[in-house]
Amino acid sequence: MIRLGADMRTSPLSVQIEITDVCNHQCAHCYHLDVAAAEMRKIAKRRELNLKSLLVIGERLVEANVFNVVLTGGEPLTRKRDVVELALFFATNEVNCSLNTNLTLLTPEVLTALKNARLSGILTSCPSTREDVYKAMTGGRLSSFLEKLRLVLDSQLPITVNMVVNQLNAHLVRETGLALSEMGVSSFAASPMTPNLSLPVSERSLGIEGVRGVLEDLKWLHGATGMKVDTLESLPKCLFDTDTLDGDWNFTSRSCQAGRATMAIGCQGEVRACTHCTVSYGSVLLEPLKRIYERMEPWRADEFVPDACRECGLVETCRGGCRTNAAAYFGSLNAPDPWMVAPTEAGKRSKYASLEIEGMTVFSASPVFRHRSEGEDAVTFFGGNFHSAVTTNKQMFDFCCDLRSNLPMTFSQIVSRYKFHGKEERLRLVLASLVKSRAIVLDATPVGETSKATGEAAVTVQDLPAETIIQRR
Ligand code: SF4
Ligand code: SF4
Repeated sequence: MIRLGADMRTSPLSVQIEITDVCNHQCAHCYHLDVAAAEMRKIAKRRELNLKSLLVIGERLVEANVFNVVLTGGEPLTRKRDVVELALFFATNEVNCSLNTNLTLLTPEVLTALKNARLSGILTSCPSTREDVYKAMTGGRLSSFLEKLRLVLDSQLPITVNMVVNQLNAHLVRETGLALSEMGVSSFAASPMTPNLSLPVSERSLGIEGVRGVLEDLKWLHGATGMKVDTLESLPKCLFDTDTLDGDWNFTSRSCQAGRATMAIGCQGEVRACTHCTVSYGSVLLEPLKRIYERMEPWRADEFVPDACRECGLVETCRGGCRTNAAAYFGSLNAPDPWMVAPTEAGKRSKYASLEIEGMTVFSASPVFRHRSEGEDAVTFFGGNFHSAVTTNKQMFDFCCDLRSNLPMTFSQIVSRYKFHGKEERLRLVLASLVKSRAIVLDATPVGETSKATGEAAVTVQDLPAETIIQRR
């Protein structure tokens, strides 16, 4: 059996750790399984591991070569000192670490400590910049949120503000985005609410046209403010019109990564395929993460893709939208996403497929390059951040490393050095994939005759298997 891409992986790229289920807000739209469950909230007990156990989990993640960790909850800043300790632990072990927080418990001292601990960024939530709507949707005070947002913006720590959208605030996306942009927010997401699996389907959820309206508002906001816009849900790709689908929007590139690139660890160390999933695949305190990841094979084998999507031209990149959204509405992970429109014959055009690579096009090595071995045969690597990671066979990785060590070079020089005469199209495909992984970058700097590539002995890459360069995450 030929195993490709994510199928060759031995552990996730990124893990969300729910360090507590305690929260000072009461968002009815919260996806955290216990916090949002009204029954559970009434009997709320602090159900969380101590710092020592969390550090054991941290060691398991380092052992499994996980690249990225998100500290989440509940509200993680109900445990400020532990958050700082964990951020420090992951930075020391070269694992990128970010924080999901409602911000309201942040203090200037903790913010400084988190910056010193090299926290990479914050994702926060704001359903509206109207006091009454903010209060109705979170139970918290808008003024407290805005005060802390100001602190973070002044500190220059990267922050994305996410607006969960349901029928209460769907008419406020532009207003909220504009107000946040005026404060200096440069990264804004509006995410249609997906019901919590612990709760019945909420009648406040948006329908297909409501979700499309949110996307139009995001596009408008990008045009009006220049903000980076996104939605944090993996929406069915048949929901987008062709122009949007082929455009350069991050929200059209998302696809379900549960049990594939990501997984979630709950308050007791139980591992789930994603934060929205209810099923535990084992405890990371009792066995290695890689063994638990193996049990999530059905997610990577696309076993939960609905039958209705199997013949769709977009299924490779869409995988049927969100599986837990489907389960919340229709009771099964195999059900169609409630926002699915219809299968389509067309595929999504990759912006990398249309990269214009000519003889004098110059390539450089990216400054950041991370990689890990996936057993004997495969390697996962990326420049930039883990979102652009690709998993390939070892031969491709070796080629990438050799190429990087010889860059900058023009396309013509690469053809000569690696003897790709007559196989230029194939090389273009290879290089486009490496650009996608950000292991190499297109460079505007001209390469002079003194380029270190010029005049060196050619390296033969006999049968570089371009078809094993994986585009899928
Ligand atoms: S099941 Fe849904 S929420 Fe979970 S990772 Fe997939 S798309 Fe995201
Ligand atoms: S039919 Fe299914 S696979 Fe195709 S775009 Fe819609 S949800 Fe995705």
